[in-house]
Amino acid sequence: MSKLIIGNQKMYMNREDVISFVEMLKTVSCDDVIVCPSFPYLEYYKDVVKVGAQNVSTADNGAYTGEVSSSQLQSLNVPYCIVGHSERREYQKETDEEINQKINKLLEKNITPILCIGEKMEERQNKSTETVIKRELDADLKGLSTETVEKIIIAYEPIWAIGTGLTPTSEEIDDAMQFIKNYLKERLNVMNITVLYGGSVSEKNVDELNTIASIDGYLIGGASSKPDAFKYIIASQSK
Ligand code: PEP
Repeated sequence: MSKLIIGNQKMYMNREDVISFVEMLKTVSCDDVIVCPSFPYLEYYKDVVKVGAQNVSTADNGAYTGEVSSSQLQSLNVPYCIVGHSERREYQKETDEEINQKINKLLEKNITPILCIGEKMEERQNKSTETVIKRELDADLKGLSTETVEKIIIAYEPIWAIGTGLTPTSEEIDDAMQFIKNYLKERLNVMNITVLYGGSVSEKNVDELNTIASIDGYLIGGASSKPDAFKYIIASQSK
């Protein structure tokens, strides 16, 4: 089954890179593709692919220099937004409480949150992956109804796999996908949820990852700013 492909282009690209990336996207079928560029480039992509932002403010509007609100995203018809990425949790010290606020702000404006969760290397080594997943899901989705949670996209991204070239085994990824789906079913009666895998997905490992049925899609960092790699990953869905 074809998987949803979401590219998180982080802060990798400048205007020229974006322009040639858009040209590449025009040559492929982007039905199940979402690109999340830096804010200034959202408009560049909108005619060829669905777009998402990489962050949103917890505030509605006002004197918050450098922030972008959910209503500003809505006014630009941006349908998706990443929240809780581990880089923001680490560098901007984003808390689960703030992530929960951001999810609420997005949902109020009918923007789909793409919520990132996942464990650190030492947490995997001491077998607390499931504890971390539960803790993050409980805190980040606090107060949300079943129907609301079903609108969210969850990205399981082991922090130690992001940008490192390391990935969990296929069995470990499958276990995490099943665990997230079962936990949300037991806890909130969520029957329909899209769960992505993220962490060093590339043109080299995507064919193998495509065989894992429980993965509904990918959140792709580094390879989503490399036109050939991203094109290969998109094309791998129609093999
Ligand atoms: C990410 O940052 O969401 C990510 C998955 O990065 P990479 O693909 O580079 O590991």
